[in-house]
This record gives sequence, structure tokens and C-alpha cells, in this order.
Amino acid sequence: MLDFLIADGIRQWAQRTPARIALQAGSSSLTFAQLSERIERVACGAAEGLGLEPGERVALLAPNCLEYVELLIGLPAAGVLTVGITAGATAAELAKICDDCAPRVVFVHESLEATARAADLGADVRIVVIGRDYDEWLASARPVRPEVDPSRTEAAWLQYTSGSTGVPKGAVISQHTRVLQYLVSAAEYGFFTPRDHHLVIGSLAHGIGSGKALTTLFGGGACSLAPMFHPERIVRMIGSRQITTTIIAPAHLRALLELPDATLARADLTSLRGLICGGAPLSQATKEEAIERIGDGILWEDYGSTEVPVIASLHPEDQLRKHQSVGRPYLGNSIVLLDGEGQAVAPGEVGELHVRSPYVFLGYWKRPEETAAAFRGRYYRTGDLARIDDEGYIYLLDRVHDRILSGGYTVSAREVEDVIADHPSIADVAVFGVPDDVSGEAVRAAIVVRPGDELPDGDLLAFCEQRLSLYKRPKWIDRMEQLPRGPTGKVLRTELRDPFWVGRDRSIG
Ligand code: AMP
Repeated sequence: MLDFLIADGIRQWAQRTPARIALQAGSSSLTFAQLSERIERVACGAAEGLGLEPGERVALLAPNCLEYVELLIGLPAAGVLTVGITAGATAAELAKICDDCAPRVVFVHESLEATARAADLGADVRIVVIGRDYDEWLASARPVRPEVDPSRTEAAWLQYTSGSTGVPKGAVISQHTRVLQYLVSAAEYGFFTPRDHHLVIGSLAHGIGSGKALTTLFGGGACSLAPMFHPERIVRMIGSRQITTTIIAPAHLRALLELPDATLARADLTSLRGLICGGAPLSQATKEEAIERIGDGILWEDYGSTEVPVIASLHPEDQLRKHQSVGRPYLGNSIVLLDGEGQAVAPGEVGELHVRSPYVFLGYWKRPEETAAAFRGRYYRTGDLARIDDEGYIYLLDRVHDRILSGGYTVSAREVEDVIADHPSIADVAVFGVPDDVSGEAVRAAIVVRPGDELPDGDLLAFCEQRLSLYKRPKWIDRMEQLPRGPTGKVLRTELRDPFWVGRDRSIG
């Protein structure tokens, strides 16, 4: 077993470069020495002050802030399983998650205290308010490294999957595998070194925010936490803080590209050496626009999930050469495409992507059956349909659950979305299958039209007619102000699709 905690990385940098800035948020900052000391206090304060035993759960409801980072690292150093909850969660969502994992303590940011109180978590759950009781709690804790048996520190975080409906499933994440992932990152990307300054844009409650932030700190680099997503402020921060790396969800990258030419041209983005985009489908058109307007040679695409955070990555030199690919397996992973019977598909054919990975999660919290169903042998079933080309590059087609079975044909929701997204008046689109008396299931599209544009249904249908066979064309079009999206900006197709299936059985997946 690897006896190496995320906190150990910070401890080492605190020895080597104590005065270097590790974290910045607004006008506050922490050096590595200060961060390391606070991490020890968090760990001791959890064990001694709050009386938490290894394996007990603590929930964390806060926007990105310095305290979030020290809790994410410090609590697992005491063996406490830390459950990050997205700041936008409602009281009902918080209650559902807490019902599942039964935390003894909830750390809540003062701006979200009302949500935590409304969740009515019961008298046994202690609430510590960041911005009020937190500083006192931290100051009263001893700044010493707690001694915990390494076997009790492996499980570090519970990350609830971003599925939109049903019972939330908590993926148990091992910090030992994360340490390995962070170390391998330097070889995969060639950055995340002490010279780097990473801008944290996504929520630290989700892998997209925490993964690269902790990779950076572990590698001795600095992180700046961006306040709420605001495209103009993001590009200004990149220039003023001389940011070298960041990771952003596709929807946020699109929002940056919506900025007027003058704003982007005025921004100084020359310090950026790694602009990683991932977590949801990214269109080739967006990639090419990003390369042209933000910078060449810096764009990476990451493909990963809650259960295996890094599955593949497409490097900058391949962005224009390998259209729509998510790249090759991340160092350490091996990938196979299997059919419904678990047999490998022929080269070039489509199958469900399975990955055997040293970065894999430990299982779903208290759900042995779901955990077993998520694997075939040692391979994790991603639920993604993919094709691999003769150079080993992966192309994602759809989620298994998002295929539409229409009159005996299988329609790829992604293919139809890509066609519709090419229409100049379309700002956003999601395609899904709904029941249909004639063909069993038929294609329905939810669209967002660009502000100021008129797009009669007939025009869009004519556009599709030229590009898609009849069975792939949407039979119905819904116009929306915006599409429902999860924390990584992924469209929540289930939210769009499920209302049409109430009381009916959907045979796919
Ligand atoms: P989650 O566990 O919520 O992070 O969702 C993981 C899923 O997001 C993957 O199984 C893919 O379906 C999707 N996903 C992640 N990264 C990408 C990407 N780069 N391109 C397309 N889909 C992606």
C-alpha cells in the first residue's frame, strides 16, 4: 500500500519553499508553510476537537474558498471521509446526500448556512460555519501531524455522481490513487510543476475543480481561486495573475468564446501553457475557435468520470489532426471496447468503453451491487459508446443510455446534436429519444436559439433534411431559454427525457 497522502506533498513543499504562495482567493493568500500548518490543524481538530474517527464522514457545503482546499486535504489526513457538495445544492439535495452517508459534521459556508439549516439534518449533526465558528475551531486545534494507520487513510472523499434523478450514489475515492495520478500528470501534460500557477474555475466539490487544483499544489505550484464564473473576469485574471494552466468545462469555454473580439484581443493570455477542457462533449468547431482566438499549442481535451477521473487525453498537437477524438489512454490505463455480451468488438467497430485504471474509485458507498455491476472483471464500465482508430485514438459516440432506437435503427444523439449545433442560429442543443407509436422511439431536440435570431422550425428541419437520414431527424423541437446542465456543464438529458417516459418502459440501458 502506498503510504503517501496528499497532505504529505504539501508538507514537503512547506519544507522546501515555505514562503512561496500556494493559494490565493481575492485579496487573501496562504503560503505553503501556512497551508501546511492549517492542514495539520484541520486534521487534529477533526480527530481531537470534533472527536472524529477514521472512516467517519464530514460534509462540506461551500463555494470555492481557501478553507475548502484545506478541508479537502486535511480531513482525509485524519482518515475522515470528506463529502463535497456543490454550492448550488438545495436543502432537499443536501438532505438526500446526508441521509445516504450520515455525516457527523457539516462544514458550511456562512453564505449557505440557511440551506444547511433548512435541510434539517438532526440534532446529532454538528454544523461548523465557515466565516463564523471555523476560525476559532481551527485556532484551537494543535498544528501537529496526526498519526493514523495508512490503511485508514486510503478512502478520502465521497463524490456523489452528477446523475440528475434517482438516489444519489457516492463514489468512494482513494487518495493513494490520487497521489499517483498527480505524479503521473507531470509526465502526461509536461506542466503542473512548481513554476505553474493554476486558475481554479470549476467547483472544488467536483473532480473538474479539485483534480487539477490539488495536482498543482501537490506539484509545488500555486492556485488562484476564481470567484463565480464570469467570462470577462476570468480572462482578466489570466493576464493579471500570469496564470499558466486552467481546466474548464466545454460550456464555460464556449462562454469565453462568446466574449467580443475586442475583449479577448485586449486580454493578455500569453502566460497560458495549458488550457484543459473536459468533462462533457466538446465540439470540433469550439476547439478550432479556441485555438484561433485563445492560443495555439495549449489546448488539451480530458476525458474522465467521477469513477475514473482521467481516462484519456487529446494533446495539443492532435487537436486539428484527430477531429472529435478524446485522445489516447492516459498513462497507466488500458482500454477495451466490448459488446453487450462482454466480447471485444472488431477493430474500428463501436463498443462500450471499459477501462482498467490505477486511478479507479474504490466502489459506491454502501452499494455493493451497484459497485459489482460497474465492473467487468478489473475493467470499469464507463457506459460510453466509443470507436478506436488504428493509431489508438478514442472517439466517443454516445452514452449507452442516450442511444435512440428508432424503427429498428440506432440513432446517436451526439451525431444529431453535432449537425444541429452547426446551424448558425443555434446556441445550444440536446437530443433525446421519446416514445413514438410508429417507430417505438423517435428523436426530439431541445434547442436554444441565439439571442436576436429567428429560427422557424421549418428552417431547422430543412437544414436537418440535407444532412441527416429521415430516421435521425428530430420529429419534435422544443425551444428553451437554457438547457439543464450538471456541474461540469454536461447537459442533463435525463431531465429532458424522463417526463416523456413516465409510466412507460424504456428498453435501452
Ligand atoms: P461524470 O461522472 O459526471 O463526470 O460523467 C462522466 C461522463 O462524462 C463520461 O462517462 C462521459 O460520458 C462524459 N465525458 C467526460 N469527459 C468527456 C469528454 N471529453 N467528451 C465527451 N464526454 C465526456
